[in-house]
Amino acid sequence: MKPLLRYLSVLFLLLPPALPAWTLPGVGDYRFEPVAEGVWVMHGPLAEPNARNHGFMNNPAIVETEAGLVLIDPGSTLEVGRQVIAELRKVSDRPVVAVIDTHIHGDHWLANQAVAEAWPKAMRYAHPAMIEQAESERAHAWLALLESATGGHSRGTRIVPPTQPLRDGDELVIGGHHFRVLASTPSHTDTDIMIHHVESGTLFLGDNAFRGRLGQFDGSARIQGNIEALQRALKTDVRVFVPGHGRSGTAAEVVQPYLDYLQLLMQAVREGFDNDLEDYEIKAQLLPKMSRWSQWVGFDTFFGKHVNRAWLEVEAEAL
Ligand SMILES: [Zn+2]
Ligand SMILES: [Zn+2]
Repeated sequence: MKPLLRYLSVLFLLLPPALPAWTLPGVGDYRFEPVAEGVWVMHGPLAEPNARNHGFMNNPAIVETEAGLVLIDPGSTLEVGRQVIAELRKVSDRPVVAVIDTHIHGDHWLANQAVAEAWPKAMRYAHPAMIEQAESERAHAWLALLESATGGHSRGTRIVPPTQPLRDGDELVIGGHHFRVLASTPSHTDTDIMIHHVESGTLFLGDNAFRGRLGQFDGSARIQGNIEALQRALKTDVRVFVPGHGRSGTAAEVVQPYLDYLQLLMQAVREGFDNDLEDYEIKAQLLPKMSRWSQWVGFDTFFGKHVNRAWLEVEAEAL
């Protein structure tokens, strides 16, 4: 390349994106950011669904292949999905050919509807248990939750379930790109899959990893299983880790802090349980050791609930 051309192309890379991002007033600007070659993530807001964030709170991601785009976790509502697609069109003019839903929680996949609207032929993949549960009370509860929490921003959203099962060890090949499935369930839920995009060395962890935020463990979760899923994630030869919530980064930035949190939690609860302590007593003992995570969004809401969930899990193991 001629020096002037090279200079101009470097200059072009340094320029801010020409197109405006999706703005949620008072919340932030959202656009797809490159995290690896041919891979972009839109890092969503960290708060629980509310009227200001319109229910948008997850990390939709795209991988570009010769055959088209693979969209992982398209978002929470019809409106959010349409915005995600509008942003997606700013980074690639290829169609979405496949959607992968990482788990049953509605903030990640109820925007499937928007993808089906734009590209009716796009395939929709998920864990077999998620496909089974997509029309269940669990999914409808998410629809209701989003509608009340967002002041109606999710109105019009309906369930468009995934249909293609992905199991542990499966490898999906799309446009010459390889997507390896790691499913250690139950972990965050009984429906989680993690996706290893081989060509870029990226691992999409779903909600098996949170960064800068804590979230709910529902009744299907197994915290020890979540620990094991993250330990498995660390054994892959991956460079970029994409959490379900929070910024993407290295293993040390994305995987280790949440793994440390879960391990400290389980260890303290096991010891407390063996010493006949109740969950609130364990919580009080553990709280001073939690300064690494106490600034995370949702810590005050979820830490006590996590101690309780861990206590029930240890109790069930002991029965
Ligand atoms: Zn979740
Ligand atoms: Zn989530």
